[in-house]
Amino acid sequence: MKIHEYQAKNLFSSYGIPVEKYVLCNVANEAVTAYDGLNMERVVVKAQVLTGGRGKAGGVKLAKNREDVKQYATDILGMSIKEFPVTKIIVSEAVNIGSEYYVSFVIDRNTKSVILMMSAEGGMDIEEVAEHSPEKIHKFAIDPFIGVPDYLARRFAFTIFEEINQVNQLAVILQKLYKLFVDKDASLAEINPLVLTKEGNLIAIDAKMTFDDNALYRQPQIHALFEPTEEEKTEAYAKEKGFSYVHLDGEIGCMVNGAGLAMATMDMIKLYGGTPANFLDIGGSSNPNKVIDAMTLLLKDPKVKVVLINIFGGITRCDDVASGLLTAFEQLKTDIPVIVRLTGTNEKQGRDMLAGTRFKVAETMGEAVQLAVGSNQSTVIKTS
Ligand code: GDP
Ligand code: MN
Repeated sequence: MKIHEYQAKNLFSSYGIPVEKYVLCNVANEAVTAYDGLNMERVVVKAQVLTGGRGKAGGVKLAKNREDVKQYATDILGMSIKEFPVTKIIVSEAVNIGSEYYVSFVIDRNTKSVILMMSAEGGMDIEEVAEHSPEKIHKFAIDPFIGVPDYLARRFAFTIFEEINQVNQLAVILQKLYKLFVDKDASLAEINPLVLTKEGNLIAIDAKMTFDDNALYRQPQIHALFEPTEEEKTEAYAKEKGFSYVHLDGEIGCMVNGAGLAMATMDMIKLYGGTPANFLDIGGSSNPNKVIDAMTLLLKDPKVKVVLINIFGGITRCDDVASGLLTAFEQLKTDIPVIVRLTGTNEKQGRDMLAGTRFKVAETMGEAVQLAVGSNQSTVIKTS
């Protein structure tokens, strides 16, 4: 789960990590009031969106008077950055930047630990630094039993600073950021840039945090900040219904019992030239309510043109599944083509029950997938 810069800065502040003053605004007029309230000549107007690269997209502007603030606030509130519409901005105290650094704690799967990453070349081009001069990014694996005690914090800080005053400031920031990271079950805590001001102070002028979704149950303060996208809302609905669901970009909606079979179904769709709209494991049982919930979920996606139901009857009997499907579709109002592949216990009875109904019935997986891919193509031709 991601949070906004202003939310991450609130957390930074509560952990004693220095951030500049800022005011959150939803409309341009509030930004002007915020400017008056901050009572400084230069401020920065910044888009609050759950994606990076705002500076390069024109979402960060330095304003020198009320007119600038009004103009930039209006412009930024009217834009979208990487498809995220900007609905909030902050007006923040402008900082006199001496130099920009990069600092982050992140989960590293190679070392199976949290690592600290630091660079003296922070700022908007950090991705290029990482690609073209990776030696300029220092990485340190953190031992969870040791954490970041004073001596390590100073040792790390010396890799980017020489002056003891700066080293000491950074050491404290590293310790606080690590504590915040661990306390809140974060998967990323990033400051880019961490700025050394012309006055000699270190301050976080940007803040980015993401959190481990599996830990949100024990992080109510963080969970409360969750702003789901449409896709995430659908995934939350699926979770509530007890499904394993992942949204994808394709046109063939899949309803499958068992995760392995669901993976194989997606592979086969690709093999025959189609694109799966989702991964969906509805688990065992033939309960019609489950089918209704799963269909409701699939039909929320406007891209879905055909539904492929792939059921392997083990403990679940195919005739039960067939009667569940018939009951469920009596209640569902949709003309969408539905292909059903039933195999396993009582498969013949199941298929016979579905013969001559709204379902197209297939015996093998290959046949079912070809039917789905084919009927999807014919729908495309019809609409064009
Ligand atoms: P990002 O592009 O989404 O990472 O947004 P940032 O918050 O990192 O801002 C992008 C860039 O804007 C920074 O790297 C700075 O160079 C510049 N910037 C941000 N805040 C200030 C500020 O207070 N003063 C000045 N002079 N520049 C700033
Ligand atoms: Mn940044």
